[in-house]
Amino acid sequence: MIPFFNIDERIEAASDKALETCSEQFKIIDKITEFNQLKVQKAFIKYGISESHFVSSTGYGYGDRGRETLDKVWADVFGAEDALVRHNFMCGTHTLTVALFGVLRPGDNMLCVTGTPYDTIHGVIGINGEGMGSLKDFGVNYSEVPLKDEKPDINSIKNAVNEKTTMVYIQRSRGYELRPSLTVEDIAEIVNAVKEKNSDAIVMVDNCYGEFTQTKEPCEVGADLIAGSLIKNAGGGIARTGGYIAGRHDLVEKCAYRLSTPGLGKEVGATLGMNRELYMGLFYAPHTVGEALKSAVYISALFESFGYDTTPKYNAVRGDIVQSLGLENEESLVAFCQGIQSGSPIDSYLTPEPWDMPGYDSKVVMAAGAFTLGSSIELSADAPIREPFYAWIQGGLNFHSSKICALLAAQQMLEKGLLKGIE
Ligand SMILES: *Cc1c(COP(=O)(O)O)cnc(C)c1O
Repeated sequence: MIPFFNIDERIEAASDKALETCSEQFKIIDKITEFNQLKVQKAFIKYGISESHFVSSTGYGYGDRGRETLDKVWADVFGAEDALVRHNFMCGTHTLTVALFGVLRPGDNMLCVTGTPYDTIHGVIGINGEGMGSLKDFGVNYSEVPLKDEKPDINSIKNAVNEKTTMVYIQRSRGYELRPSLTVEDIAEIVNAVKEKNSDAIVMVDNCYGEFTQTKEPCEVGADLIAGSLIKNAGGGIARTGGYIAGRHDLVEKCAYRLSTPGLGKEVGATLGMNRELYMGLFYAPHTVGEALKSAVYISALFESFGYDTTPKYNAVRGDIVQSLGLENEESLVAFCQGIQSGSPIDSYLTPEPWDMPGYDSKVVMAAGAFTLGSSIELSADAPIREPFYAWIQGGLNFHSSKICALLAAQQMLEKGLLKGIE
């Protein structure tokens, strides 16, 4: 059936079945994609985007129409008053850092209500020591409310929020955990609980991996500030770097003062010819996220059919693009990642091996064959080599490309005598 790659007939048969299993889910994803595509398209039309918005600015970048209008289009799409979309954000962590430092002041109280946040944010908050210039070093207090049964614990959140709470922080994506992602409905519930206790508390959402997975975004249900990376969902696989912050106008302005300088804010920043790809990335983002969601759903269905634990299940409601697979042992994790890598459009000839990655307490094996280094809207898989031996998979610019990578991963496991569920 597939002339370019050698896939065992039994895996192909399982794949055909998995596709049937996914068909309802694919229809739901198509509807979400269409809704979000039209939302984006409407915003482009509203602001009359033309080639003149792609003109490159240099130096201070004063009066860059493309940059200024992109912020407006972005705000429109994300249901926000204002936005700050810049290639100058180096990664998601940098973007979140600018947002946190932009808004929080000494003596303020930050409360994370989705358990301990994503690893790279620990240093920003000062969870793991002082001295690097973390929020803690600047006198910002931090506390958190753990999840309960893997869900936000609304009662404990209500108990933890008081008149001293400056910011409530929410992480939408599961990141590298096994808990479910938050849906926009979950976020709405948190916002309502928080505002009931303290209507001035700023609700900020780490929106990484969440954009366009549903038809609403967090600001539409009352979040005050969101931030995310452009080498994930919102860059559509086109943006080569960057990040965005969106939300209430006064807060976005403070973030702009932090990114550039107090006083200059959004007025500066040469775009160096980046505008076109940031617009095009946003234009592609709903479709690309749809492809990534289909990839995740298919991989979940296929590996569940082999007998592996998958989370989320293929038919779960998703608030992010991340898929985890319980592959049960080190050999399977490595074979899986090697199979994914072997089918990647870029760097297919590399063989991932487990290594001691800085910042991790166990070895990690990673597969990534991407046009943009570290892009995780492109298909990638990573797995810490430790119990419970899960691989985290995200992205896929293109469903058919992800599908063959998944089949090659299964094939690699089969050839090493590791694949379950095949007689
Ligand atoms: C990716 C991610 C980040 C950090 O982004 P980087 O680009 O890796 O710095 C933060 N939070 C979540 C939930 C993420 O998925």
